[in-house]
Amino acid sequence: MLPVIENLLVLQDRDRRLRRIQAELDAVPAQRLHLQTKAAKAAAEFDTVKKRVQQIESDRKKLELEVDTLKDRIGKVRSQQNDTRSNDQYKAYQHQIQTTEGEISQLEDQQLSLMELAETGAKEVAAASRINAEVKAETDRHLADLATREARLNEEIDEAADARDEAASRVDDATLSRYERLVKTKGDNVIVGVGGGVCGGCHVKLTTQATVSARGQAEIVPCPNCGRILYFTSDMG
Ligand SMILES: [Zn+2]
Repeated sequence: MLPVIENLLVLQDRDRRLRRIQAELDAVPAQRLHLQTKAAKAAAEFDTVKKRVQQIESDRKKLELEVDTLKDRIGKVRSQQNDTRSNDQYKAYQHQIQTTEGEISQLEDQQLSLMELAETGAKEVAAASRINAEVKAETDRHLADLATREARLNEEIDEAADARDEAASRVDDATLSRYERLVKTKGDNVIVGVGGGVCGGCHVKLTTQATVSARGQAEIVPCPNCGRILYFTSDMG
C-alpha cells in the first residue's frame, strides 16, 4: 500500500474518532436540559397537588367561620326571642332560627365533603412528594454521571485533536487539502477500498483502468464516479 494511503487511512480513522467525541459532547446540553426538565416537571406537579389541598383546607376553614357566624346569629335571635312578648314576633324568630339552622346544616355537609377531599388530597400529596423525591434523586445521579462523562469527553477531545493533527502532519499539503475537500462533500468515508471491482464509497462498478491503477498502488487513484480516493489490498477480489 502507498505510504500516503496508509497515512490517509490513519488520518481518516482519527478524524472519525474526533467527530464522534465532538458529537457526543454536542449532545450533552440537550441531555442535561432533558433531565432538568423532567425534575422540574415532577416538582411542579408536587406543587400543584400541594396547593390544591391547601385550597381545600382554606375553603373548609372559611365554611367553619361562616358556621360560627350563623351560630352567633342564632344565639342573638334566641335572646331576642326570649325577650319578646308578642306571639307573632316569637314565631317569626323561631322561623328565622330554623332557616339559619338549615343553612348551618348545609354548610356542615359541604365541610364534610371538603374534609373527605382533603383526606384523598393528603394521600395524593404524599404520593407526589415521594415521586418528586425519587425523580430528583435519580436526576441528580444522572446529572452527576453526565458531568463526569462531559469532563472525560473534554479530555478525550483534546487528545483526539492532537492525534488527528499528528496524523495530518504526515500527509503532504496538496493531498491533505484534497482529502479535506472530499470530507466536506462526502462525509467521513473518503479513503475507500476496492472490493469486488466496485468503489467502497459509492458502490459503482469501477472502470478496468481505475481498478488496474488502484491495484498498481503507484499513485493516488480517485473513483471516476464519486472522486473518493481508492486503495487496494491483496484480500480484495
Ligand atoms: Zn466511488
